[in-house]
Amino acid sequence: MTLAHNLIAEAATRIGRPRVSFEFFPPKTDALEAQLWENIRKLEPLDPTFVSVTYGAGGSTRDRTHRTVARLVSETRLKPAAHLTCVAASKAEVDGVLRNYWHAGVRKLVALRGDPPGGVGLPYLQHPQGYASAVELVESAMRIGGFDISVAVHPEKHPSSPTFEFDIDNFKKKLAAGATRGISQMFFDAEVFLRFRDRLARAGVYAPVLPGIMPVTNVKGLRRMAEACGASLPRWLVRLFEGLDDDPETRRLVTAVTTAQLCAQLAAEGVEDFHFYTLNRADLTYSICRILGVRPEQQAQS
Ligand code: FAD
Repeated sequence: MTLAHNLIAEAATRIGRPRVSFEFFPPKTDALEAQLWENIRKLEPLDPTFVSVTYGAGGSTRDRTHRTVARLVSETRLKPAAHLTCVAASKAEVDGVLRNYWHAGVRKLVALRGDPPGGVGLPYLQHPQGYASAVELVESAMRIGGFDISVAVHPEKHPSSPTFEFDIDNFKKKLAAGATRGISQMFFDAEVFLRFRDRLARAGVYAPVLPGIMPVTNVKGLRRMAEACGASLPRWLVRLFEGLDDDPETRRLVTAVTTAQLCAQLAAEGVEDFHFYTLNRADLTYSICRILGVRPEQQAQS
C-alpha cells in the first residue's frame, strides 16, 4: 500500500515562498469602501507582488477604479495595477486614462479588450474610434509610458476564439506588443491550468502565466460567470455545494478546502505565482495564502 500524498502539508512546508497578487473591484458605496480597505490592510502584510483593481463593464467604474488605484498609490506600500478595457471608449479617451495613470504614479496595468457592451456571448463591437483588441491597447500603453503590463489568458480558450492555437497566437501578439505576463481566467481543476501551461510550452511561450484563483462561495452566481467566460465547472464541485443555498457558512468552509487543494496541487506542479480574485474579502484568500506558506513579513522572519 502506498501512502496518499499530503499536498497541503507539502505546500505549507515547501522551501521558498510563492509569490501572490490580489485582485479587488472598486466599491460602490462608502460602507463598501470602508470594508474593502479593511480587507486590503489585512492582506497588505503578505507582501503581494502587485494588487489589481478591475474596470467595470463598458468603463462603468472608470472614476471609481481610478480613485481606488490612486489611494493605493498614496496610502500604501502596495504596487497597484489598474485594469483598463477598450469597450465603449475612443482611442483618445483610453489614452487620456493611460496618461492620467502614468502621471498619478501608476506603473502597472492589466490591459484587456473587455466584453461586448451588449453582453457576453454577443459579437464584440468595437467603438468606431476605439481600439479593437487588447493587443492594440498594450501597444498604446507602451507608447505612452512603458508600463509593466499583464494581460488575460484563457486556459479553456476564449469563447470567441476559433481554436486554441488562435488564442495562444493572440497571447504571443500581446507579449510581442509589450506585455510581461498573463493572468488566467478562473478555472476549477488543476489539470486545466497544467494542460494550458503545456500547450504554451509547446508553442514556445515561456512568459509567466499566473493562475487566477477564484475562491467563490456562491455556485449559482458562479455558474453564470463560468459559462460566460468559458470556464468549466467540475460536476464534483457543483455537487459539493448542492443543498447549501441557505447555508453560507458551510459554503465558505467547503470553498476554503477546495481552493486550498487546488492551490496545493498547482504548487506541487511547480507553480510559484498565484493571483487571487479576492472578491474584496480577505478571509478566504488570507487562509489559503497561509496554507501555501505565505505569511505576514514579521512572522515569516521569526
Ligand atoms: P483579447 O486578447 O483582445 O481577445 C479576446 C479573444 O478574442 C482572444 O482570446 C482571441 O483569441 C480572440 N480574438 C482576438 N482577435 C480576434 C479576431 N480578430 N477574430 C476572432 N477572435 C479574435 N473585463 C472587464 O470588463 N473588466 C476587467 O477589469 C476585467 N478583468 C479581467 C482580468 C482577467 C485576469 C481576465 C482573465 C479577464 C478580465 N476581464 C475583464 C474579462 C475580459 O475583458 C474578457 O475575457 C474579454 O472577452 C476578452 O478580453 P482579452 O483582453 O482577453 O481580449
